[in-house]
Amino acid sequence: MADQTYTMTINGKAVAGSETFGVENPATGAVFAQAPDCTAAELDAAVAAARAAFPAWKATPIAKRRELLNVMAGVIMQNIPELSRLLTREQGKPHPDAEGDVGGGAFWLMESSKHEIPEHVSEDSAERHAVTRYGPIGVVAAIVPWNFPVILAAFKLGPALLAGNTVVLKPAPTTPLTTLRIGELLRGVLPDGVLNVVSGSDRLGPWLTAHKGVDKVSFTGSTQTGKKVMESAAHSLKRVTLELGGNDPAIVMPDVDVKKVAEDLFWAAFRNTGQICIATKRMYIHKDIYEPLKAAIVEYASTVKVGDGAEQGTQIGPIQNSAQYKRVLELIQDAKDNGYKFLIGGDAAKVPGYFVPITILDNPPEHARIVQEEQFGPVLPLLKFDNLDEVVGRANDSEYGLGASIWSSDIERAQDIATRLQAGTVWINESQHLSPHAAFGGFKQSGIGVEGGADGVLEFCQAQTVFTRKPATA
Ligand code: NAD
Repeated sequence: MADQTYTMTINGKAVAGSETFGVENPATGAVFAQAPDCTAAELDAAVAAARAAFPAWKATPIAKRRELLNVMAGVIMQNIPELSRLLTREQGKPHPDAEGDVGGGAFWLMESSKHEIPEHVSEDSAERHAVTRYGPIGVVAAIVPWNFPVILAAFKLGPALLAGNTVVLKPAPTTPLTTLRIGELLRGVLPDGVLNVVSGSDRLGPWLTAHKGVDKVSFTGSTQTGKKVMESAAHSLKRVTLELGGNDPAIVMPDVDVKKVAEDLFWAAFRNTGQICIATKRMYIHKDIYEPLKAAIVEYASTVKVGDGAEQGTQIGPIQNSAQYKRVLELIQDAKDNGYKFLIGGDAAKVPGYFVPITILDNPPEHARIVQEEQFGPVLPLLKFDNLDEVVGRANDSEYGLGASIWSSDIERAQDIATRLQAGTVWINESQHLSPHAAFGGFKQSGIGVEGGADGVLEFCQAQTVFTRKPATA
């Protein structure tokens, strides 16, 4: 039974959709609401609305666009209690983390409003004036995954709207509701058609990336899907920004304070049930501290509460959806089949919902699937290393290159190691911190382009250079 009707926002109006699909609570596996399953005709209407709204939005002074981004942020902030409860229900994350996702989205919109759009004068001689300006691209398709539905949408909306683009936003099929609700709350804030929110089953993403009325695709999701997005976008040479998967290494040097770092290292891997593109997915620990650090991490892990994100005190929720649940169980089974040693976890309780216990593996071989693949779940291999060159080689030996962290009391050496790592973001003695004012993107198959910072805004712009010949002076 649906508890409420959720509607798409197309041209500023509510569209209930002629078809719907069920949305589950991952803590129970039960469908608790229906979401509109956008049809091809409804998508055409959303894209047409975005195209029609583009000229006026582009011509709107940037000061006004900044102001409206802040109004959007304010509306989201005012509704944090409702939105975060809904987010926990559809996504599974503990309530404080849901508040962080929603509040973080509002913060991102506010901070994005502060970016400047640059203008470069490259020549101003007696002969000629040359200026490069950056204008909007047009209609942006913003495609978001299920792990951080609100903040990852804001990564796109803030800079895209600031630069003068209009948007068709699509959340993941398993977490559409909070995004639809935000669309409803924002109606009337922006001119009709500037922000359209559509939800749908698996058919919708490919329709959107292939749509002739879309000029740019800003996509966050898996590497596998990212490749399909790029292929589809190639037909009309749509611009693409791809924020994709990762297999982030953490390198823990022998000079850390074992007791102090154990908790931070645990959360680097397990926050959001390990479902973070920049979660630590391989933890390399120097052999001199391997045993005591292993013991400290496992001891801390045994104190952490896994459960329904809506229950007070829950620190780790369920896996978000059944497909991901099956994938994580498959990787655990592979580790069992190969006789790898489990320090904690490994056996999913037979309860409703998609719960996987905190699972930590003791030094499996480098070629193990759990080391080579992106697990995106609460399963972490601890790996022993001997020397720096060896661990840098192992850290870089991946098709991914999203993030990496180094843990050491020797900051200078850690900064030097950072320069040797093939990763778009490197943290020293912390993890997962991102800023709206810093570029975030992946090396290798972790993506193309960046989000955040001035570079992130330019991903939503196209450059135009105007050369003006000056009249010859007598
Ligand atoms: P996914 O690739 O399955 O789906 C992401 C989005 O793409 C969803 O909205 C989905 O409906 C849509 N989609 C699916 N097939 C499509 C197609 N053929 N064309 C267009 N759109 C399509 O990813 P997921 O399972 O939702 O998310 C987990 C993945 O996302 C992980 O690999 C994770 O590392 C990655 N991720 C990356 C970042 C980053 O910033 N680099 C951030 C979060 C998550």
